[in-house]
Amino acid sequence: AREIQRLNEYTNRILASNPSALAVLTGSGREVVSVNRAFCQTLGLDEKLVEGRPISEVLPWDGLEEVIRQSLASPADARKEEMRYLAEDGSERCVLVSAVPLLTVDEADPEEESLLVLNDITEQKRQQERMQEHSRLAAVGELAAGVAHEINNPLAAILGLSELIQMESLPSQVTEDARKIQEAAQRAAKIVQNLLSFARKHEPEKRYMDVASIVDRAIELKSHDIKLNNIGVTVRHSKSVPATMVDELQLTQVVLNILTNAEQAIMEGQGAGEVTVTTQLLNGKIRISIADDGPGIPAENLHSIFDPFFTTKEAGEGTGLGLSICYGIIREHGGELWAESNRGEGAIFHIELPVSTDETSGETSGESRTTETPANFIPSLRVLVVDDEPVVRDTLSRVLSGDGHDVALASNGNNAWDLIQTDDFDIIFVDLRMPGLDGQGLYQRANEFSPDLAKKMVFITGDTTSASARDFIKSTGNPFLSKPFSIRAVRQILQASA
Ligand code: ADP
Repeated sequence: AREIQRLNEYTNRILASNPSALAVLTGSGREVVSVNRAFCQTLGLDEKLVEGRPISEVLPWDGLEEVIRQSLASPADARKEEMRYLAEDGSERCVLVSAVPLLTVDEADPEEESLLVLNDITEQKRQQERMQEHSRLAAVGELAAGVAHEINNPLAAILGLSELIQMESLPSQVTEDARKIQEAAQRAAKIVQNLLSFARKHEPEKRYMDVASIVDRAIELKSHDIKLNNIGVTVRHSKSVPATMVDELQLTQVVLNILTNAEQAIMEGQGAGEVTVTTQLLNGKIRISIADDGPGIPAENLHSIFDPFFTTKEAGEGTGLGLSICYGIIREHGGELWAESNRGEGAIFHIELPVSTDETSGETSGESRTTETPANFIPSLRVLVVDDEPVVRDTLSRVLSGDGHDVALASNGNNAWDLIQTDDFDIIFVDLRMPGLDGQGLYQRANEFSPDLAKKMVFITGDTTSASARDFIKSTGNPFLSKPFSIRAVRQILQASA
């Protein structure tokens, strides 16, 4: 009797420790005979309350009975069906369902009991969906970067020339119109820049920092607005969260953006509410979660909110770029950003960042920057402008000649090289991306000929410049001009080189 009891307990332990949710069902009526621990835990049910009840009552899921019937009818196929249900906390969960006849000795009897097996695959599904979402957004990002790059060239011309027009002595109406054109172009330039941050073309300047204090400071920045709007903020930082490599400004921007969205959602909903911010270490990653009790995000929008220009706000109120920029920033940090929202219970945004201990890799990228200089007198210089884009070349040439410099133009690296052989330039503006001999090639050729000549080069870059091009500029230590540029930026560079 002791041996039978021991074996009985042993079998029970095997069933109890099985991570799959298991339920034994009767052959007729499919009533629950017994369930294991995983069954109760996965489904949030009490063992006592399920035993003896038909499975269709315990789990009132559409199509569950059909899945069980089909599985039992053809056990050799071992069909597993994916089913979704709403858990007690309102979140949607996903399980893989199968049923097998409970074998008697070695043969199955259709009237015998069966074993229902449920495997919770919610996390795998989420991972998979996030991966697909990431590939889709990466494709949108590439497109956005391409469009932005193309727009930068005409924008450089509009900005530069509208600024030049304002410097002429023209009727005040014309000057005023030119100012408006310049303002509109600046707005467009800002959108282009935002699109590029989504396309993750801005490398973060990471430093080893405490994430919780960045979050605190971001909340502090918003606290006045939030209080005025009757919104309470609860912050919980788990002590175990380690420091990691982050770009403080960028992470602040992400937290602020999500907080602003939460605030707007609450204001649109009941007009007062609560935002809860938590930071914790979860599965070796830092997780910042920002939850609000606003109206939440409808399921059909959950997949679009990170798309550039997706907004449900009125024109003028939202640009739909906020979350896409946040997404780009977090991906650039090697992290993840996603949202969950359950049945009118508000929305929760999760930011997940890797823990990185490498303090040296994220040194601020000492890109050469020009410093503010007063509009001092700049002596007349002999300048060469090398760019394959006629509008950029001509605009730069107009700006430079307007300031009294002597300008020569070349449309590619080879033409430029010919001119350099015969002329003595003080400064050479070179576009990095050109067909044929590009900016980098021209620099290398000049450097081999004479390092002093190479030092005279100022690179013109689109914002889409690849990481390798950025590294290249950094390695030369030469100044650069980002498209679209202002006249002031051009003058600052000339002043520094004069
Ligand atoms: P914008 O705020 O300019 O609309 P975002 O990219 O920041 O652009 O947000 C996109 C959309 O996501 C919003 O228009 C809104 O519909 C939705 N959204 C973002 N955060 C929340 C939130 N906390 N609650 C409800 N909806 C949200």
